[in-house]
Parts: sequence; structure tokens; C-alpha cells
Amino acid sequence: MASTDCIFCRIPQDPNADIIYRDDRVYVIRDIAPRAPVHLLIIPLQHLTGFAYIAAGQIPIMGQLFVVAEEMARREGVTVSGYRVIMNQGPDSGQAVPHLHMHLLGGHKLADLG
Ligand code: 5GP
Ligand code: ZN
Repeated sequence: MASTDCIFCRIPQDPNADIIYRDDRVYVIRDIAPRAPVHLLIIPLQHLTGFAYIAAGQIPIMGQLFVVAEEMARREGVTVSGYRVIMNQGPDSGQAVPHLHMHLLGGHKLADLG
């Protein structure tokens, strides 16, 4: 998929997008269909379709997802109550957007993983 066809590549180019955090590697938006009181998406700026495209060169990006997750959890006030990060990968996970991203969910008791 060309990045121009990819919603998560287009959002950071959109001056009206509601981007709540951005650095040189990742950006963060609120999920359009939140599944928890806090539901953020932490998204690499680089178009990476899935884990098959992660190599040594992407380690700083992957690390930044986790650094920013904790920072966003702090800003959202859920570091003590807890939160969950999820990265869907492929059809059985329900991955809908083929641009790697991390979900951050919190703000209430989350269901057990199924
Ligand atoms: P996936 O199922 O691929 O792991 O998650 C994709 C997520 O992106 C879904 O939770 C969906 O609600 C969210 N999403 C899809 N399109 C948009 C959009 O245009 N804006 C925002 N904020 N979230 C989106
Ligand atoms: Zn993309």
C-alpha cells in the first residue's frame, strides 16, 4: 500500500487533525471509536505495515512507542490505575489499519484477554 492511501500516514499531514502528541518518530491521536475511557493510538510516522518490516533500524521507533505510552498514560492520569497496550498484527488479531500502531487503553477495569 502506498503511504498516500494509508489513513495513519495521512493524519500527520492534515493540519486539522487532532494530534495530541508528536515527536520525530511517533504521533498520538484519540481512537475514533474508543473501547475504554482512555483509548489512544500511538503511531509511528514511518509507514510500517507490520512486524515483518521491523529490523534493527526500527528499534528506536519501537522503543519510542513504549516511552510515549508511559508519558501519555501519565498525562491521562492512568499510570497508577493501570493501562494496557496492544499491537494487533494480522487478520486473527482484528488489525484493521495496515500501518503498525499501539493501542493504549485504560480508565476503567479492562476485560480479561481472550
Ligand atoms: P486496529 O484494529 O488496526 O488495531 O486498530 C485501528 C484503530 O484505528 C481502530 O480502533 C479504529 O477505531 C481506529 N481508527 C481508524 N480510523 C481512524 C481515524 O481516522 N481516526 C482515528 N482517530 N482513529 C481511527
Ligand atoms: Zn501508513
